[in-house]
Amino acid sequence: MGFDKSSLSNYYKYAFIPYFIIYIFAVLLTPSTSSIITMFTYALLILYTYLFHILLHLVPYPFDLHMRYHHADKFQSPKEELFAFVVEVLVDCGMFVIFYFIKEALNLKILDNRVIVFVGMMYVSVHMINYSIFHVSLSHCLHHTSTEIVGNYWPDVCDHIFDTNLGDSFENNDHFIINGLCAFLLTKALFKTSS
Ligand SMILES: [Zn+2]
Ligand SMILES: [Zn+2]
Repeated sequence: MGFDKSSLSNYYKYAFIPYFIIYIFAVLLTPSTSSIITMFTYALLILYTYLFHILLHLVPYPFDLHMRYHHADKFQSPKEELFAFVVEVLVDCGMFVIFYFIKEALNLKILDNRVIVFVGMMYVSVHMINYSIFHVSLSHCLHHTSTEIVGNYWPDVCDHIFDTNLGDSFENNDHFIINGLCAFLLTKALFKTSS
């Protein structure tokens, strides 16, 4: 379904503005780096999370943790649900740890660790708090409904670019801003104490 021209004003309101505010947080975290490089790192990370999620759907048993736990239809007990939640938090965090190690292996110094940590906190908190606990996004809830659903991998903007969105509407991403502010403050504090 890709980009529907009639929904471009929604794209501007719901996606561009919150993503741009998050980008400003990333720029403020990296005052010694060119804002173009920060933009590149930010965009690369967004694309990476989208592609990594698609890969998670292709992982075979017994490593298919995302499909087995995050896409489980129902849970036998609250304990099992909590276990599935923790597994997905670890899978999400692992995504950014792998990115960091690839970056180190390729010696890509251009990619600032502060942006990786910041976007990592954003991704994990939006996915696990906003979506999995508060069900803010109907499109992402639809993605969880079964293991048969192929689409709405999130970020929503990537689903529209690569035509994996299951509807033409753009998700309202305003709720990202509070995660962005918290992630910004935490990343700033973390790198202040480690420097
Ligand atoms: Zn999810
Ligand atoms: Zn999934």
